Parts: sequence; C-alpha cells; structure tokens
Amino acid sequence: MKIGIDLGGSHIGLGVINSDNNILENYEKDFTEEEKKDILPVIENYIINMVNNIKKQYDIEEIGIAVPGVTKNGIILRTINLGINNYNISKKISENLHIPVKLRNDAKCACLAEYAHMVKEDSSLKDITMLFLTIGTGIGGGVIYNGKLLEGHMFEGYELGHIVIKENGIPCKCGKNGCFEKYGSILEYKKKVKQRLNIPENVNADPLREIMKARREEIADIDNQYISDLALGISNLINIFEPDTIVLGGGYSHFSYMFGNSLKDAIVNSNLLFNKRNDIDLRIAKLGNDAGIIGSIL
Ligand SMILES: [Zn+2]
Repeated sequence: MKIGIDLGGSHIGLGVINSDNNILENYEKDFTEEEKKDILPVIENYIINMVNNIKKQYDIEEIGIAVPGVTKNGIILRTINLGINNYNISKKISENLHIPVKLRNDAKCACLAEYAHMVKEDSSLKDITMLFLTIGTGIGGGVIYNGKLLEGHMFEGYELGHIVIKENGIPCKCGKNGCFEKYGSILEYKKKVKQRLNIPENVNADPLREIMKARREEIADIDNQYISDLALGISNLINIFEPDTIVLGGGYSHFSYMFGNSLKDAIVNSNLLFNKRNDIDLRIAKLGNDAGIIGSIL
C-alpha cells in the first residue's frame, strides 16, 4: 500500500492507495485560521500521526505528497498560499516514519492521475499527448507525452498558468503581470460574477450556480470575456504541444456545463490556432478531489 497526500492552502487530504491506484481509505482535515498562522508543524504532525495509525493496519511502502507549489528532490522550494519555502519536508517525515517520501507539484500530480485513469478506461489512449489544466484558484497543469509527464531539470517547469496573455496586465502572485491564470482561473471569474450580481464573497459554488442560472443575461459579457481569455491561453498551449486531448479540472469542472460548447468554439473559430483543426478533444477531469491524492503516488 501507499499513502497519497494532497496538500492545499486550507485543507489536507490523505488516502491509503492500493496497487490498482484505488483509494481504500480517505481522511481529511481543514486548517483553522489559528493553525494557518504556523502551518508547518500542523501539517507534519497530522501526517505523522495519521500514518502511524494507518501503519498498524497496512504495510506502507511509500508516501507521496502533492504540493501547491514548486518542489525539487523532496524539498518544498516555494509555495504561495502555504508560506513554506526551501524546506525539506520529506526528510523530516521519512526520518520519523521510516518510509520514503516523494513530493511533486499538485497540478502535475493531478495530471498523472487523470492520465492513468483515462488509460485504465481505454488502453488505446496510452500514447496520446495530453494537456491537463487545473482551473481553480489559479491555473496549474502538466503535459503527458509518450506516457510520461514532461518535466524540467532545473525546476519542475511547465508553469502553464503563468504564460503571459496580456502585456502589463493584472499583477499575478508569481510577481509577473498579465499571467493566464489572472484571466482564466475560476476564482477570477467567480469574483467578477459576484461583484456584478452583488453576491457576498462567502457564497459557495452550489448556491452561486443557482443564482447564476437565473441571471445569466446580467453576466453575459463576463462569460464571453472569460471564455475568450480561456481560449487564448489554451490555444497558445495547443500551438506548442499539439495535444490529442485536453483535460480541464479544478473548480472549472463545476461550472463548465454552463458554457456549453462555447470554449471549444472559441478555440476553433477565433483564429488562434497555427494548425487549423476542428477536432479539439476537450474533456472534463473525472477524479475531482481524488486526483491529487492518487497522483501523488504516481
Ligand atoms: Zn503568474
């Protein structure tokens, strides 16, 4: 058995995973505002205590952690939402539990998990080039080529949400301006919708969708601009990677049905593609919140 962990800015998920990549047991914890002030010991203690308990029942050979940031050789180099930088979390945990620990960026973990799931359902897709984007608070992603995740040597690379789509555009948390994620993330879209419709910040996705359904006309221009920005970013990535399949995950998957075919139409019809094609295979991710947990051990 392996243990997969999905680390987020306000949440940690942990699963016991068998050799078929199925989650047998699932645990989660939301961080309190108090805990967020000094999050590192909270994360480490939670993992160590949970795994110590799970070890009584299962033989655990490896732990994987999906990290919302940049990692290298078991070290968290940079996270924006967690405030953990240049820290060797895998050393601390593996020394304590005597189990090897591996880290990888969470979007790339989700990319691996979605790819593995897709191939499990249809083995003929094994050799595809897949572009995966997790469209949530920001935009992360990964590219699968010849069955493997593409990665940089210096850093993990493939920071797909941080290609610039507008010169001198909106400042991004990464320090640059005009990044794709400042226009294409579902967070930015929801912010604009809530502002327009006078909906409080704390309204969740379900009630928000209900309100939006009834008031679509009032946000039509926001929808159009959002789809147009998404199409621009995705088309740039298509021109580079020429993927057979594009999988979109993250919070976007809860809103995608509202946009119908408009995203695909915008990609195909907006004169954005170098190689003109109509057969854009755009799919919605299947694994939801499990993608990070499963992908962390892949
Ligand atoms: Zn950026």
